[in-house]
Amino acid sequence: MLRRSLAAMLVARRCVSLAAKHRVVVVGGTHGNEYTGVWLEKALRDKSETIVGNPAAVEANRRFLDEDLNRCFLRSKLDAPPETREALRAREVDAALGPKGSDDAADLVIDLHTTTANMGVTMICDAWCPFALRAAVYVKQQLDDQLLLGQDVKIMFNDEKDKENAPYLASVGKAGLQIEVGPTPQGVVRWDVVDATKRALDAVLELWNKECQGECVDLPAEIDVYSVAEGFTKLSWPVDDDGFPAAVPHESIQDRDWSTLRKGDPLWRDRDGETVVYDGSFGDEIVPIFVNEGGYYYASSGRGIGVAQKRRVAVPPAP
Ligand SMILES: [Zn+2]
Repeated sequence: MLRRSLAAMLVARRCVSLAAKHRVVVVGGTHGNEYTGVWLEKALRDKSETIVGNPAAVEANRRFLDEDLNRCFLRSKLDAPPETREALRAREVDAALGPKGSDDAADLVIDLHTTTANMGVTMICDAWCPFALRAAVYVKQQLDDQLLLGQDVKIMFNDEKDKENAPYLASVGKAGLQIEVGPTPQGVVRWDVVDATKRALDAVLELWNKECQGECVDLPAEIDVYSVAEGFTKLSWPVDDDGFPAAVPHESIQDRDWSTLRKGDPLWRDRDGETVVYDGSFGDEIVPIFVNEGGYYYASSGRGIGVAQKRRVAVPPAP
């Protein structure tokens, strides 16, 4: 009995000192027209450490000025001479929250995004960050029965094990993840989307604090995720010489993210209204995500519909 309480004291003392050092940063406006994150950054800045990812793009109400900031955090890109305003901003963010991969980096970076696609609350985790997947599982546990935006919480799992190859802003942190919520138009703040995002954020922070305090949290050993390949493959719609879409998602998949698409199923409608079917190029059965995401009309963000596969993965244990 004595031994057990002594052990508990030791754990508690160690975790208090760890918690005191911890630096958690919430980021909004990495994409300048995703106003939910911009709203929450303003709402939280007096209570937490926050930054605006791309302030110039927020001011312009655009996703980005020259290129997608959330693709600028690859090691190769951070080390190259900056040629765009976003590449320059990525260096500033890396200096403020990183440097990426260093001991000085923030302990946890949570980047808030929205999508125009009907995806509900999606926790975006990279394989290099074990905390991200645990947090996603915890958010599911806490929020699934609330059916936020009419759906359970989904986990998008980027199979990227090397943090240096991760292009996302959140990868400047020692741990990092993204919360993606929709549907919402760009440049609009909807309370239901703000509320869903805040609930997911609060649950992430709750797990973080519990783990910092050495509290044991029961999570399942395995979880279903929607896995995307390194680099996040897209089914690109055809574009014309102006880069404008020459076909749009077929009405049978519009608003039906997370359902299975099989080879031969309708995929696009072209300008004549003709149906173009899925040719099976990414496998006979795929799960389309980010169906008609406004941000994916841009080449530098990766054009088209996201391609995922449903997969069961092990939930990494707490450290
Ligand atoms: Zn975004």
